[in-house]
Amino acid sequence: MDQAWLGIDLGGTNTRLGLVDESGLLARERFATQAPLGPGPWLENLQAAAAELLAQGPRPAAVGVASPGIIERPQGIILNSPNLPAWRDFPLAREVGRALGLPALVENDANCYALGEHRFGAGAGRDLACFTLGTGVGGGLIIGGRVVVGPLGTGGELGHTLAVSGGRLCGCGARGCVEAYASATGLKGLIREAHEQGRPTALERGAGVNRLTQAAESGDELALELLAQAGRALGRAFANVAAFTGLDLIIIGGGVSAAWPLMAPAAHEEMCDRLRLVDPQRMEIRRSQLGDDAPLMGAAAMVRDNPL
Ligand SMILES: [Zn+2]
Repeated sequence: MDQAWLGIDLGGTNTRLGLVDESGLLARERFATQAPLGPGPWLENLQAAAAELLAQGPRPAAVGVASPGIIERPQGIILNSPNLPAWRDFPLAREVGRALGLPALVENDANCYALGEHRFGAGAGRDLACFTLGTGVGGGLIIGGRVVVGPLGTGGELGHTLAVSGGRLCGCGARGCVEAYASATGLKGLIREAHEQGRPTALERGAGVNRLTQAAESGDELALELLAQAGRALGRAFANVAAFTGLDLIIIGGGVSAAWPLMAPAAHEEMCDRLRLVDPQRMEIRRSQLGDDAPLMGAAAMVRDNPL
């Protein structure tokens, strides 16, 4: 029988599950996470969804879970996740393993995203750095075909590299992170600050990224400026990735990446300005191919690579 693995993406809003084999995704299911209810009801919903899924294909050898937040490895405990406050210190790997009767591993969702794109998506097997532009800016580094986390566990946290010295306050507590400029939260904050300063714009108070993109497309100066600023923050991060790792492939994903075409010119310009050690034309920037399937496919790939 063909080998298969189960991948789970525990999101703040939805949980997605997929049955994955060497060729890719065989079947998928999803249910509402209902994060405030905490992990108990979630585990019950997970069992039901997994039963549906497992009826559709081969029995998986193990389950990989993509989780937001800071993970204690290798135990797979959620130490802290802003989107899942009721899950603090929850032993996710152990409890998912028990609920499904499968060996389980947990990894950060952005790292799983990067691994999914590397194995099944836009990475096409090449080493890469991945930026997921969503509520925050997640990052993942795949080097030698493996996720890099390092002894601190913070490897690949590309959203918390410095974009602007002394800049905006980031959710992590530091100032000037890429996330403070290129995430949905960062951009919303920038729109609010522009309103407070009385900047002329077609953007309403409380506008989000979809509105920002629309306004930029119809030529709103502030909207164009904010997306260019986000692009410059990313361009600096791309140049840093090149200097730290020598990687030449960057994948951009996440909901905010729908606005990538409006950020790309400033990102390229900034990257070329910062990256003088090699010809910046050698850096390749691609959009995600897997989208919302990337984290669960990467989580499944992770347990394939690390037999439990
Ligand atoms: Zn930060």
